Amino acid sequence: MDLWGRITAIKGNQIAISLESREELASLSLFTTEEQPQVVVSVQDERHISKIQRKKAYAVIGEIADYTGYIPQEAKEWMKFLFTMETGNPYFSFADTDMTTAREFISFLLEYALKYHIPMRHSALTYQDDLDRYMYQSLKYRSCVICGKHADVHHLDTIGMGNNRDLVDHRNKHLIALCRERHQLAHQLGWQTFKEKYHVKGIILDPQMLNQLGIMTYKRMKEIDDEQRKSYRQTN
Ligand SMILES: [Zn+2]
Ligand SMILES: [Zn+2]
Repeated sequence: MDLWGRITAIKGNQIAISLESREELASLSLFTTEEQPQVVVSVQDERHISKIQRKKAYAVIGEIADYTGYIPQEAKEWMKFLFTMETGNPYFSFADTDMTTAREFISFLLEYALKYHIPMRHSALTYQDDLDRYMYQSLKYRSCVICGKHADVHHLDTIGMGNNRDLVDHRNKHLIALCRERHQLAHQLGWQTFKEKYHVKGIILDPQMLNQLGIMTYKRMKEIDDEQRKSYRQTN
């Protein structure tokens, strides 16, 4: 069995691993009766396609297969085909590809899963291999970065300008897609704590992206700029 998590502390020859959730351990007793079961901890190698990347890719393919009804082998070939079509990357083999291609492929798979709201056993946050890209995809599909539920766009930087709440300016602000529940939690815990707890980050989108993703229209940007100019004139 594979447990998915992060090494969160190292002390002498001991490591602490925090898993995505407690449920990870629920079925542990089905696998072993040993008090101190033997494990091999694979740490991501940042140069070659790693065992973890391969596991991530296969795990997401497995989720897609379950959802679509294909067998995993078919889903894998189909997704690889779509990937090469869409990205122009040459056909690759998991046995010997490089880390960058593997990373792109995992992002591609996750985008597919987010786009079709495919329910998954693990959080997509656990499977992602490129945090910036995943944060972006979650904003694009309004999918909570932690649980995948429908999300709103959350501002990390305080909303500074204007009293008009309809004119919220998303430009040059760190944004993150969070469901209502996690959004409240983010406010409760404070961003710093929240960010460290979940290993997430906010990203800044340029005006073109904001418009394209339907977060903020060019019209609204202009309204805000006009209003700001007006109030500037009034106070000066
Ligand atoms: Zn959520
Ligand atoms: Zn908020």
